[in-house]
Amino acid sequence: MLTVYSPRQNAHDPLRELNNGEWMAYAESPARLESVLAQMGEATAPVDNGLAAILAVHDPAYVAFLESAHQEWLAQGRSGDAIGYAFPICGRRPLTHDRIDAKLGQFGFDAATPIAAGTWGSAYWSAQSALSALAALAEGGESQAFALCRPPGHHAGADYFGGYCYLNNAAIAARAAEARGLGPVAVLDVDYHHGNGTQDIFYEDAGVFFASIHADPRTDYPYYWGHADERGAGAGEGTTFNQPLPRGTGWAQYEAALGKALEAIAGFGARLLIVSYGADTFAGDPISHFALTTEDMHRIGARIAALALPTLVVMEGGYHIAALGRNVAAFLSGLEGG
Ligand SMILES: [Zn+2]
Repeated sequence: MLTVYSPRQNAHDPLRELNNGEWMAYAESPARLESVLAQMGEATAPVDNGLAAILAVHDPAYVAFLESAHQEWLAQGRSGDAIGYAFPICGRRPLTHDRIDAKLGQFGFDAATPIAAGTWGSAYWSAQSALSALAALAEGGESQAFALCRPPGHHAGADYFGGYCYLNNAAIAARAAEARGLGPVAVLDVDYHHGNGTQDIFYEDAGVFFASIHADPRTDYPYYWGHADERGAGAGEGTTFNQPLPRGTGWAQYEAALGKALEAIAGFGARLLIVSYGADTFAGDPISHFALTTEDMHRIGARIAALALPTLVVMEGGYHIAALGRNVAAFLSGLEGG
């Protein structure tokens, strides 16, 4: 399958993250992409489509913040990665902040997503990989393409970062697909964690269907979103479909949820499918708690292929580095009918 990736995506290399009250090595590391690339053989570099498609999803003030945040951090006489520590959970007003610490709280929703020296460039090129893979579907005669995105995107909203995500690659591709006349678009999120950013971006949008199968937010990150009663609002009422599942979920339970999500997507009348693929549903994943095997990854791909829609796969999570490449390859092979 056509794979799009830029080595510039690996300039993003935060040193550590706060997890369970302790500092630990950053799980969303450059080694993840090395594991996938070792399985994929070759990858095509994205072309630079500029900022327009990014700004079709993300707030300009937020994008400007991402571009300059690390320099502002250094300008305060600090070193290392920029991490927020104060978050305006109540009384949020549209103030314009100058202090980097205020901006980190304004635009971030967790303390586990540092902004490092290379973060902006890598997030930018990760989005360009999604856009170039979409172009291969739209213009290049491909029916399936894989954007090997890193950093991932599904937790990022129009004006916020979190969950290792800065720019929402799937949403940027979905908006670009609509602009190319390829809609209606459905986004299917099969990462272990709920894709709260993608849901938020399209929550009141009748043109993009969002379906997600994920760990129950009562037990797992991102906690506040992804509950079964979140179904969209306004014009988008009924175009959000959440399937939270308990820790320990294996193939039988997962397959039933996947079947319902695929049925809902077919019922919506989507003409293009974007899959937010996370391999962190794998049994051995160090930060997740489902029980899927590498063979199950192949089965997920095969079930999705039965929709027979042009499909763009966008990489999200997956943190078992030794197995990550094999799991991604198994999923893509299932999708290709192999
Ligand atoms: Zn995840």
